[in-house]
Amino acid sequence: MILTLKRGISRKEIERLEKKIKHYGFKPHISRGAKDITCGVIGENAILLKEFFESDPLVRSIAQISKPYKLASRQIHPKDTVINVGGAEIGGKSIAIIAGPCAVENRQQIICIAKAVKKCGAKFLRGGAFKPRTSPYSFQGLGEKGLKYLAEARKETGLRIVTEVMEISQIELVARYADVFQIGARNMQNFNLLKEIGKTKKPVLLKRGISATISELLMAAEYIMSNGNHSIILCERGIRTFAKETRFTLDISAVPVLKKETHLPVIIDPSHSTGDRSLVPAMSLAAIASGADGIIVEVHTSPSKALSDAAQTIDVPAFSGIMKKAKQLANILGKKL
Ligand code: PEP
Ligand code: MN
Repeated sequence: MILTLKRGISRKEIERLEKKIKHYGFKPHISRGAKDITCGVIGENAILLKEFFESDPLVRSIAQISKPYKLASRQIHPKDTVINVGGAEIGGKSIAIIAGPCAVENRQQIICIAKAVKKCGAKFLRGGAFKPRTSPYSFQGLGEKGLKYLAEARKETGLRIVTEVMEISQIELVARYADVFQIGARNMQNFNLLKEIGKTKKPVLLKRGISATISELLMAAEYIMSNGNHSIILCERGIRTFAKETRFTLDISAVPVLKKETHLPVIIDPSHSTGDRSLVPAMSLAAIASGADGIIVEVHTSPSKALSDAAQTIDVPAFSGIMKKAKQLANILGKKL
């Protein structure tokens, strides 16, 4: 339920209303729009309280939130959410480029790639230390050692670190080194992990599950938000379809659909979605043209030698080419890269 508040309402009056909402066992969510201040009443069957608020002099009108996701919905928060990660913005007029290898392989590899992508204009470095691999015999990541190398790469370059956390027991450790938690596609509906991540304050890059609908992705975000953490970046990374020519099918229309439904930033992963480095430049640019707030892309100084996801990993010259075109596109769209 959304309450549109009386014009000129004071801070004290808002506090009084918030208290009333909490008193009934619901969570208030204030949003300041250009014209109106609204207050979401979050919780199951909040609409049953309608009559208690209809007569409140602080409330001008009441609307029901029609979607199952509440805090994530644009209805409750019409303005775009912009997430600031150490001075670099994701969302709004900014296009965020997150680049780096699939996995941290050794110290020299990650620092060398970090320097290269920074030179091309990336502001974020990706790299997994804990890797969710399809086969238990594949490289599983360096663990804490990998996180330490990522922190070293940040110190050398100033890039912000995006890295995956796979389970609850890793949250504290990963939080010590990362600037943004990544929740992988395979964990999108690991609700216990989502709840615990929701209790932290770090931004979260939440990937769409391999067979998840857009609504399920938004409900996963809702799990994190309802536990207190509202800094979420949604990522379309391809879904499973009957098409065999690509590893997954990039659902590019998910971008405008999500933009309509939610205020959260939306990015695209052109690497995992295609599984083919020759397709990555076109999909990166398509992402930006579709209105995405950025991309997360796998880049390596020697892609063919990458320990994981070599086939979809681009080299530095290809990344540099994408960046040049992406800047032009950003200009056309009135955004900055
Ligand atoms: C990754 O980004 O390293 C990754 C494993 O991606 P996804 O969870 O989308 O498969
Ligand atoms: Mn990968």
